[in-house]
Amino acid sequence: MARVFNFSAGPAVVPEQVLERAQAEMLDWNGSGMSVMEMSHRGKEFMSIAAKAEADLRELMAIPSNYKVLFLQGGASSQFAMVPLNLLGDKNSADYINTGAWSKKAIAEAKRYCEVNVAATTEADKFTSTPSQQELNLNPDAAYVHYTPNETIGGVEFPYVPDTGSVPLVADMSSTILSRPMDVSKFGVIYAGAQKNIGPAGMAVVIVREDLMGKTTATTPAMFDYKIHVDNESMYNTPPTYTWYLAGLVFDWLKSNGGLTAMAEVNQRKSAKLYAAIDASGFYHNPVEVGSRSWMNVPFTLSNAELDSVFLAEAKEAGLVTLKGHRSVGGMRASIYNAMPEAGVEALIEFMADFEKRNG
Ligand code: PMP
Repeated sequence: MARVFNFSAGPAVVPEQVLERAQAEMLDWNGSGMSVMEMSHRGKEFMSIAAKAEADLRELMAIPSNYKVLFLQGGASSQFAMVPLNLLGDKNSADYINTGAWSKKAIAEAKRYCEVNVAATTEADKFTSTPSQQELNLNPDAAYVHYTPNETIGGVEFPYVPDTGSVPLVADMSSTILSRPMDVSKFGVIYAGAQKNIGPAGMAVVIVREDLMGKTTATTPAMFDYKIHVDNESMYNTPPTYTWYLAGLVFDWLKSNGGLTAMAEVNQRKSAKLYAAIDASGFYHNPVEVGSRSWMNVPFTLSNAELDSVFLAEAKEAGLVTLKGHRSVGGMRASIYNAMPEAGVEALIEFMADFEKRNG
């Protein structure tokens, strides 16, 4: 068996130890005689798996007790609708910060439900920066402020958490959750699709402050109501049980590897090495303003785009896969989430230097 270094933006690399544990437990989880995927979500075995995953996530992120944690279907994209449906209440406008493709999708969805005030946009510089706190044109009467701390496609990350006063802050943390410690109490809602730093696809983790629930209307679909999911402990319908279990294994792995402080250290180091290699070369280029560069998604271009396909083919030969940039921006993108070992980043840097030597 030869495992590759997989730089996919998502679904993405899962820690090898997690895969091995899932393999070991595949046919018979803990003496139950069943795979987790065969279990009733209401049986005591799965209930214990679900509860442990939540407890571990709470511990890892130091989630305060006035926040509820949900494990839901529908990915992050459903949250683009659930956020306005649950938080608008009797208000009719919300603030959105636009820093790239995922912000735009969130804005487009919100426009179905309310007036969107774009509090800042970096579209003029092709989404290669983040606005400063002073540049945010916040409406004190907004129902909430939504932003994307890490834009997965552009590789742009906020170096700070916006201060929104008493207006709840909502964050799409799909591609940055669990990459470092963060103060959950600064947020009204945090949501993330699972398929990057949490586990396999098919689930979103939603962390919602208790007082923000219960403002839906009579026509809000039950499946889109946070309160209904909270009251049913994410089991209003059949939850994505196997993904929830795998997420629990990832949380366990994070805990036994030093938690989020240790992750932050490694993630900072991995990304710094890769950016340094890009910046030191005259052949590779990353367009993002230095202070807004992502720790998780590193896009880069080659000085000669005609070499893109050769680069990808040779990288694949070297065991470095899924480096093709998003179709909207071209070039390359290396996603280096928690589960990407430092050795993978080092192998990429070595390959890039060698490729430059031969083609630069
Ligand atoms: N937000 C961000 C920042 C993302 O990166 C993605 C997926 N790449 C999404 C939202 C959409 O997630 P999903 O496919 O789980 O709906």
